[in-house]
Parts: sequence; structure tokens; C-alpha cells
Amino acid sequence: MPRNIIQDKCTACGVCYKSCPVEAIVKTESKYSIIKEECVDCGTCKRICKEEAVEGKDPIHAEIK
Ligand code: SF4
Ligand code: SF4
Repeated sequence: MPRNIIQDKCTACGVCYKSCPVEAIVKTESKYSIIKEECVDCGTCKRICKEEAVEGKDPIHAEIK
């Protein structure tokens, strides 16, 4: 499942944008968004976002509640 940036939580720090290996994160009007078709679901953006603005389950833990 591709990642998604929750716009209300994103502070537009740009850290995820610089870290995405496939350049799937783009700057929008005031925040950042993930192009779902480009995202390879590596999980980097979710791990590094201090605001916990990136949602999407890690495949390994998806079934563990
Ligand atoms: S790292 Fe988090 S807060 Fe920073 S731009 Fe990305 S989604 Fe927004
Ligand atoms: S999960 Fe990986 S490929 Fe997808 S937007 Fe985040 S850093 Fe980029």
C-alpha cells in the first residue's frame, strides 16, 4: 500500500522529500504529497517523519495488532 502524507500533520519540513529514493514526494502548494504511482513503499519517509504525518502500514507488521 503506498504511503500518504496527512496534510494536517505535515509541517512541510521537507525531510521526507530529500530522503525518498525514487523522488515520489513532491512539493504541493504549501505541503508535500506522495505520488502513489511512483512510491515503492520503502517506508523511509514514515520512519524519518518526526510529525508522524506519513501513514501506511509496514508490510511486515501489517497483520500484527
Ligand atoms: S517529513 Fe513529515 S512533516 Fe516533514 S515534509 Fe515530510 S511529511 Fe511533512
Ligand atoms: S515509502 Fe519510500 S518510495 Fe514511498 S514516498 Fe516514502 S520514501 Fe518515497
